[in-house]
Amino acid sequence: MSTEIYSVKGMHCASCAAIIQKKLSKVEGIKEVNVNLATETAQLEFDNGNLKLEVLNQIINNYGYSLEIEEPPSAASLSVADSVAKRAEKERELHAQLKKVQFALPVALLVFFLMMWDIGSMFSGIIPHLPLSMELLNIFFMLLSTWMVFRTGAPFLHGIVMFIRSGAASMDTLIGIGTLSAYLYSAVITLIPSAKAFLHAPDSTYFDVTIVVIGFVLLGKYLEARSKMKTGEAIEKLIGLQAKSALVLRMGKELEIPVQQVKKGDVVIIKPGAKIPVDGTINEGYSTIDESMVSGESLPVDKKIGDPVVGGTINKQGSFTFTASHVGADTILARIIRMVEDAQGSKAPIQNIADKIAGVFVPVVLVLAAATFVIWLTVGSSLLGFSVALSYGIMGMVGILVIACPCALGLATPTAIIVGIGKGAEYGILIRNAESLEKLSSVDTVIFDKTGTITTGNPQVSDIISLEKERSTTSLLQLAATIENRSEHPLAQAIVEAAKKQQLTLGEITDFRALEGIGVSARIGNTTVTVRKPLESEKTMAVKKLQEEGKTVVLIEEDGTCRGLIALSDTVKKEAREAVAALHRKGLKVIMLTGDNLLAANFMARQVGIDEVMAEVLPQEKAEKIKELQRVGRKVVMAGDGINDAPALAQADVGIAMATGTDVAIESAGITLLKGDINKVAQAITLSRATMRVIRQNLFWAFIYNIIGIPLAAGALFPLWGIFLNPVFSGLAMAGSSVSVVSNSLRLKGKKL
Ligand code: ADP
Ligand code: MG
Repeated sequence: MSTEIYSVKGMHCASCAAIIQKKLSKVEGIKEVNVNLATETAQLEFDNGNLKLEVLNQIINNYGYSLEIEEPPSAASLSVADSVAKRAEKERELHAQLKKVQFALPVALLVFFLMMWDIGSMFSGIIPHLPLSMELLNIFFMLLSTWMVFRTGAPFLHGIVMFIRSGAASMDTLIGIGTLSAYLYSAVITLIPSAKAFLHAPDSTYFDVTIVVIGFVLLGKYLEARSKMKTGEAIEKLIGLQAKSALVLRMGKELEIPVQQVKKGDVVIIKPGAKIPVDGTINEGYSTIDESMVSGESLPVDKKIGDPVVGGTINKQGSFTFTASHVGADTILARIIRMVEDAQGSKAPIQNIADKIAGVFVPVVLVLAAATFVIWLTVGSSLLGFSVALSYGIMGMVGILVIACPCALGLATPTAIIVGIGKGAEYGILIRNAESLEKLSSVDTVIFDKTGTITTGNPQVSDIISLEKERSTTSLLQLAATIENRSEHPLAQAIVEAAKKQQLTLGEITDFRALEGIGVSARIGNTTVTVRKPLESEKTMAVKKLQEEGKTVVLIEEDGTCRGLIALSDTVKKEAREAVAALHRKGLKVIMLTGDNLLAANFMARQVGIDEVMAEVLPQEKAEKIKELQRVGRKVVMAGDGINDAPALAQADVGIAMATGTDVAIESAGITLLKGDINKVAQAITLSRATMRVIRQNLFWAFIYNIIGIPLAAGALFPLWGIFLNPVFSGLAMAGSSVSVVSNSLRLKGKKL
């Protein structure tokens, strides 16, 4: 099984996406298809091995689309030139659209003005008649309209050709049929008087309608494309963070080279104010670095020898050299960009309804348009006479075809997702996919892991108590540290650190075993030494007292005999209290989950205002605890570190991993917070709620617009009040609809998190 992303050419609306989706889904060997209108990509999952691009293209070329191999994700090659080229191509397309609009819009406005004048003079009596010969004007309109229909509006005609050839219809087909039928009817009654007499057709023609509709629809498409480009600005910004060149030391010489040529192991020289080109570790000098662009952390960070530096961040005053450890596609920035790009192209579950509707939308509208025409001709002409009914019938049909807009439906969700995920990235909130963003909006319970999430995760040895007079606390510490030296656990590291501070030597051990969530054991010579958490029965007064102070107590045993205890204290993160309060303000329940003892956990929980504590939970039981909450109907977000808490993160409705250092794309988590700032949990929830609100508004407006617009255009108000919507207004509404959806999504950019 393999997945491939292609870019799709020739797609303009949700029904285009639906057609490609449908045709490709039917192909044998393709398991899943995800066509995204907003990013103009198709993600294909193959059963076994890729199908040839030509084979895929043979299928969809018929319908006017083509697939192209997606350029390696812009960041993968880290080539600035690539992303600039991509942007330039989009800008060229936009410019071509603008050119068309610059011609079509003034023409449409002029014609619109003349139309309104004419209508005004007919009804008001104050406005004089147009000082022009109607015959001449009609010929003038016919010439303009011929140009508009066959040149400017050629893509719409292409939509009709495609429909005839393959039966697949898109929004272009609707506009094409609408404008072409108005045009043909008008041309026939203008050019063939006998046909006009035969039809008892009224004097009025609809050249003006075709001109104005095409002008407005093109304007709408242009504005839509322009705003769509804006939705992708967050990615552009990230790409813009890449340094273009690097100063490296090669064969004793300083050499300025393009960033793509930096190799792993190169020594890179950083001068004051310079941009760090790739990831690495400082080997000489020190400085302060502004990492805000990559981590969302606003304060500059001090860096000395041995500290990691991240490509894309900016050096302040100092100068230093560092050894490149990750270059090209492996840098943190490149991985962030890839993750954001992938996420922006993914599909939110809420989009499914819109997709289903878009899939049947166009055929349904075609049927409705035809039905409208027939009803006017039959019912309408029996009441109003054939000639009047014919004219309304044509107008109604054209109006429906023009006003029905699957575009707004297709753009409602993905544009908001793109802006939302991009905005998250700017705040250091990396969202894996649209589904996680959607789910996050409806969570009601936040679970925090204690160590490293609520607390700093750097515990310190605070007390050492020997239970035997002849044994010094120092030798006790030495014994514990000898065993813990092999463990990665933060408690172990603290114990080793304390021993190193006293310059104790750590001896040899054999048979080391880590008892996950309990402790460690090993053999020294012939004795088995264990460092572990106390059992319930072992919690003496002394132990309990330490625990009540928020400390974690471990026992040190030799061959099953307890020799003493070590207490460790961790401090809560200074932002934890505010982070919990922010979640409370959002109406969420906050729970702390830990393997540590209940007394210490309660102490910490009280400090930060957490509602409930689940303590002494073994690592493998953490996921089970979450399942229990889910069973009683809670929607749970779990925040913890990506390594120890992976199963719990995966079990939660949404897992939020605190990134530490270089790990940005944590597998088990739907969301990764750079810099592990837990304030971002509330920010992420704010973002997801705001995004979902925008999506719901978008969908609502897109639906309402079609639900009201279609009957209105058909003439549903005519029998009641004699009001009939001129198709020209359908054109205006159509132009407005997708523009308003995209603009609404862009509003998210300004949202304060
Ligand atoms: P947390 O949920 O805080 O990450 P863990 O599940 O990692 O906790 O550990 C739970 C408890 O097990 C710790 O509080 C400690 O008492 C004990 N423990 C785990 N690993 C070790 C170790 N290497 N040395 C001593 N005690 C340990
Ligand atoms: Mg842990």
